[in-house]
Formats: sequence, structure tokens, C-alpha cells
Amino acid sequence: MSVLIVTQAEVPALLPMAECIDVVARVLETVARGEAVLPLRQSLILPDRSGRLATMPAFTATPPALGLKVITVFPGNEGSELDSHQGAVLLFEPEQGRLLAIMDASSITAIRTAAASAVATRALARPEASELAVLGSGVQARTHVEAMLCVRPIRRVRVWSRTPEHARAFARAIQERHGISVEVVPDAHAAVAAADVVCTVTTAAEPILRGDWLPLGAHVNAVGSSTPAHRELDADAVRRARLFVDRRESALAESGDFLLARAEGAVTDDHILGEIGQVLAGTLPGRASPDEVTLFKGLGIAVEDLAAAQHIYERAHAAGAGTWIELGGRRE
Ligand code: NDP
Repeated sequence: MSVLIVTQAEVPALLPMAECIDVVARVLETVARGEAVLPLRQSLILPDRSGRLATMPAFTATPPALGLKVITVFPGNEGSELDSHQGAVLLFEPEQGRLLAIMDASSITAIRTAAASAVATRALARPEASELAVLGSGVQARTHVEAMLCVRPIRRVRVWSRTPEHARAFARAIQERHGISVEVVPDAHAAVAAADVVCTVTTAAEPILRGDWLPLGAHVNAVGSSTPAHRELDADAVRRARLFVDRRESALAESGDFLLARAEGAVTDDHILGEIGQVLAGTLPGRASPDEVTLFKGLGIAVEDLAAAQHIYERAHAAGAGTWIELGGRRE
């Protein structure tokens, strides 16, 4: 049977950020309506802990879609020519189980993660939010700036990154790509001190963002930590904020930001107000006042990859993009 191959170079044109934001919003609402089958991701951790291999299957009923992301996460790739996230998204059709497509997962992950943060920002940040702080300067930092520009009138970007030269390279790249100037600041506190929107996109294991730094009315997208032992936020940042997640079950199993704050006694499970899809569906209130701090903890869930892959597949069909191969799947 014919299978469509979509490469890293082809994904961005088939998954523009603005479209991906709407795609991810729709699928998060689907999850909130209970119309998705979404097991927790399974991770194989290498014995030396240098990397992990994760499988992320998902099914949605509306539209009918079935797929799997298989991805390695090797944080040590940072600074090399390789993305720290490598793999493929496999799209199947759910009637006979045919494999439809194999797509690059590095690019889909980079785009859909930032799109999920944009969905949360659109729902929770103050409408006039214009000051953006980015903690980190890697792959996610870049797509997050693009995503935030899609949903709020961002006029100023401040970046802090552990390696100052990486922050400077990031600032140059953002200026070139989006025509917006980026101020490189010496520490995370300086980045967030006047921020309306904060994106934490590092591989830090220990907190890089403290609750007492956050200005009233800020919205935070906490993205970098997706394992129980890693966190970017201290317990106070989690406690101070009204907390929304992409999926409650994932947050309770995987979010070091939440679980470590809970272990320190700062919050209980009730602190998770609910899923962002519920806010979109109108079944859960979002921001209640201009002064409160809102927090979106995105773990990254498989339906986001599935919906992105479905969108790419339809776009590729229409545009004649990608490469078709005969792979197999016939009864011999
Ligand atoms: P990159 O490898 O491109 O960048 C890593 C960033 O983390 C760099 O800016 C680096 O700073 C910073 N960093 C590394 N170690 C530390 C530390 N100890 N303290 C502070 N900063 C540090 O990674 P990505 O941008 O692809 O991913 C960033 C994070 O987001 C990862 O943890 C990744 O697993 C996570 N992620 C989460 C997803 C989700 O859905 N929630 C999806 C995809 C990724 P510098 O270069 O300046 O040293």
C-alpha cells in the first residue's frame, strides 16, 4: 500500500503555526469531550540515563484518526547538529488499520508544542499582553516566539538562557525571522520582572523560575519539564498560579513541576483546576481577574501529534507534496 513520507524540510509549509494553533485547539476540545483514546506515554529510559525512547499512541473519534509518535529525547544533543527530539509520527486510517503516512517528528514536535502553549495563552493571558519573557533559547524557544506572536500583540521580547552566546544567537535569529527585537538579559528574574507572558522552555532539572518574581496578571506556559523528576518552576510559582493542564492524568503522572510542589506540601491535587480543552469548551472558567497569575502546564500529549499529522496529510494531498512509497501491508 502507498505510504506518504513527509520530511523535516516539508513539514513547516504544511503545518503553518497559525493553522496548527487551531488544529491543536480543536483536538484539545475533543479530549475534553471524552472523544479521544489517549494512553499515557511509555518511556524506555537508557541505563546510563542519557536518553529515552517514548511511544505516544492516540485515537480520536471526531475526526476519526489513529496514530503514534515514536520519539527519542536525548538532551545531550543540545549544541550539536541534531535536535534533541528525533523520530517519526505514524498516521493510520482507523477502519482497516492501513498505515497512511510517516512524518518527521522533530519538526512536528517543535511546532505543535508551541501551538499548544499558544492555545492556552489565547484562552488565559490578558488580551493586551505585550511583554514576552522566554527562558531558554533552543528549538522550543524559537517556535514559542512565533506562536506567541500569533495570539497576542507582543511588542517586546526578553530572553534569558544559561549560555549567553546561545541567547544572543536566538535574539539575532528572532529579529531576522520575525522583525521583532529581543533583549538578552543576564538572569531569569530580569526576563520575567515585567512580563505579561512567560514561556519556560529549558531542559533544567531544578527551578529556573521563582513564584515571587512573577508580576500580577502574568500568564506562564511551563513546557520544558515533562518527567516527574525535572522541574523549571519552584513550588511557590505553582502555588501562586491558577493551574491548567493539557491533560489531568498526564500531569498527575509526569509533571515534575506539579508533583514536586505537591511533595513539598505547597499544593494538593485540587490545585489543578482542569484541562485547557474544558476552558475552550466553555465548561471551565479561565482567567477570573486581570491580576491573577495563570499557569499552563503542557506535558505534550499524543493527540496533538495525531491532529498535526492528519492536517499535514490532508494538506500534502491537496498540494501534491511529500513522497509516496510502496511499503507493504497486503495479504500475501
Ligand atoms: P534544546 O536542546 O533545543 O534546548 C535546550 C535549552 O535548555 C537550551 O536553551 C539550554 O540553554 C537550556 N538548558 C539546558 N540545561 C539547562 C539548565 N540546567 N538550566 C537552564 N537551562 C538549561 O531543547 P528544546 O528546545 O527542544 O526543548 C526544551 C525542553 O522542552 C526540553 O526539556 C524538552 O524535553 C521539552 N519539551 C517539552 C515538550 C512538551 O510538549 N511539553 C515537547 C518538546 C520538548 P543554553 O543553550 O543556553 O545552555
